[in-house]
Amino acid sequence: MHPETTSIHAGQEIDPTTGAVIPPIYLTTTFERASDGSFPHGYIYTRNGNPNRAMLETCLAALEGGVTCAAFSSGLAAAMSIFQALRPGDHVIAPDDAYHGITRLLREIMAPWGLAYTRVDMRDPQNVTAALRPNTRLVWVETPSNPLLKIADIAAIAEIARRAGALCAVDNTWATPIQQRPLELGADMVMHATTKYIGGHSDVLGGAVVFGANDTFAERVRFLQINGGAVPSPFDCWLALRGIQTLPYRVRAHAANAMQVARFLAEHPRIERVHYPGLETHPDHVVAARQMRGFGGMLSIEVKGGEAEAMAVAARVKIITRATSLGGVESLIEHRASVEGPESTTPLNLLRISVGLEHPDDLIADLAQALA
Ligand SMILES: *Cc1c(COP(=O)(O)O)cnc(C)c1O
Repeated sequence: MHPETTSIHAGQEIDPTTGAVIPPIYLTTTFERASDGSFPHGYIYTRNGNPNRAMLETCLAALEGGVTCAAFSSGLAAAMSIFQALRPGDHVIAPDDAYHGITRLLREIMAPWGLAYTRVDMRDPQNVTAALRPNTRLVWVETPSNPLLKIADIAAIAEIARRAGALCAVDNTWATPIQQRPLELGADMVMHATTKYIGGHSDVLGGAVVFGANDTFAERVRFLQINGGAVPSPFDCWLALRGIQTLPYRVRAHAANAMQVARFLAEHPRIERVHYPGLETHPDHVVAARQMRGFGGMLSIEVKGGEAEAMAVAARVKIITRATSLGGVESLIEHRASVEGPESTTPLNLLRISVGLEHPDDLIADLAQALA
């Protein structure tokens, strides 16, 4: 089945009791036990499972080509469950450029818990090989990376992990399953902040992990989901699933707009650099073109003149909104180093843009006047 059809139908059936085409929101924490003590519909208590969560998990697993999925209350809760499914004393290899919340989670929460980690530049898979230790259990990949849009070769890194007896997890938030399918490239699991493109409308926080196999590691993550309790509400699941229905079309339009905005910015005399893997001049363009179907809706720019100039450009935009986050229909711009805090290694003149679904000419005109 094609993703356009999967998005609309996987996990989504006509409500058997009423014929409702759109699923009801099951606002119930608990489910009745039959007189023999069994749970005839399979649901016991909403932390363990809820019909809206089951629909979302089924749909996400299908879109990623996986066999099972665990949905969480945020992207970071999903990531944390993967790290917690390891053991104290295990070693993780993570990217040097990654969503700052993941880096902070490793540094401030998982390292004190006993997880060792090494951050490497994953543009060269040799760096992953060099960082392997006998206790390496997980290689964490984020591609395109946040905020420098570095591209990691998923197939090469998954193979290195497999040979070393480690798992490979890919944060696929930016590419989405529409433009990148890490399980097909050999990854063991895919993590999402459904907060972003999957929800797609900046109105719901969520996360998910999709697994290529229903093995003991997947079971452990599910155990942590249910017993750690960072589960999404039924309404949040409903909203995320509603967002998914238009995901393939939105993502293609985001990427087409981003390409036009990137081409405009690449020619602009006040821009020092544009980071967008769709540009032929991007150093990892060939790898991106091989493993992605389209290049996503995210780009970042380095403004000539340093931090003050970058701030001034962000201050002048009118249609694009100054805000963190990404993947919604509205375009957002952000001075990334400010939000990442003192540990940030992001260039101070860098602005990250989530290119929305406004008309690209209007976005280009807005940037042109802000750069004038
Ligand atoms: C936003 C984001 C996360 C974290 O998701 P939350 O829902 O904010 O917890 C993780 N990874 C990437 C790439 C993100 O963009």
